[in-house]
Amino acid sequence: MAFVMIATGATSRSRVRTLSVRPLIAVAGVAALALLGSGGALGYWLAEAPLRPMPSAAAAPEPLALPFTLEQVGAISARLFRLESEAAQLSKRIGVMNTEVPASARAPAGRNARSPAEPAGPAGGPLLPERSESSPLGTIDAQLGRVEQQIASVASAAAEQSLALMRLPTRLPIVGAELTSSFGNRVDPFAHTHAFHAGLDFAARAGTPIASAAGGIVAFAGFKRDYGWVVEIDHGNGLATRYAHASELLVRTGQVVVPGDRIAMVGSTGRSTGPHLHFEVLRSGDHVDPRRYLAGL
Ligand SMILES: [Zn+2]
Repeated sequence: MAFVMIATGATSRSRVRTLSVRPLIAVAGVAALALLGSGGALGYWLAEAPLRPMPSAAAAPEPLALPFTLEQVGAISARLFRLESEAAQLSKRIGVMNTEVPASARAPAGRNARSPAEPAGPAGGPLLPERSESSPLGTIDAQLGRVEQQIASVASAAAEQSLALMRLPTRLPIVGAELTSSFGNRVDPFAHTHAFHAGLDFAARAGTPIASAAGGIVAFAGFKRDYGWVVEIDHGNGLATRYAHASELLVRTGQVVVPGDRIAMVGSTGRSTGPHLHFEVLRSGDHVDPRRYLAGL
């Protein structure tokens, strides 16, 4: 029996060397034994090192010490289970779509929850202890994952809801002012004929602050002949508000405002008979009664 090695040298000519296999096997065997010996010793030392400062070959290996007792793991697991149920209930209450009942609530967790199938055909092999898929730490990890998912869904839904609410003109744009003219037909104060009033009028002293009824972007802040100094805010979803006859503007076109931001001061500019705020709500460009939105009116 011979072992053939083909080696290509610096020259283009190939050289073939023939070696007897017996010395090779001997060398490989010695090398393998050395590797196994050192590797095994190193592995054993590494495994024992954290538990025992001085490695001792004579002493029997001790069981691995867990950082928690099983009772502690059980207590944490129970708290997680409660938290998971609470998160699921909270999700349902605020209408999160993905509210599946957690797996741990459907069936008790444990190794008897599912019975493994017996092999259908011939089977064998050494009898080893069962590997539990739901070890205490594995179960906690899975529960944590589900709780994190539920909390993320709840937080996302809550953020969307609060954003939607922020964009509805529900906040009174002026505090402590008297409502002097409602939405609808009325006698025009200038022409003294019947005319449509497209908003609400709040009488207030000049210089009274005017607040944004909802969050949005200032679509216009400037002067218009009839409205005088006026602010128009786009709230998205086709909703907009208008604040007219101001004496002073506190925002600029393009500025982002949150509900309650001071945007202007009451005045009597434009087509106005005295200091007041003329407030409009527009939906898709059409005037609607602001009372449909304003809270406390
Ligand atoms: Zn008006």
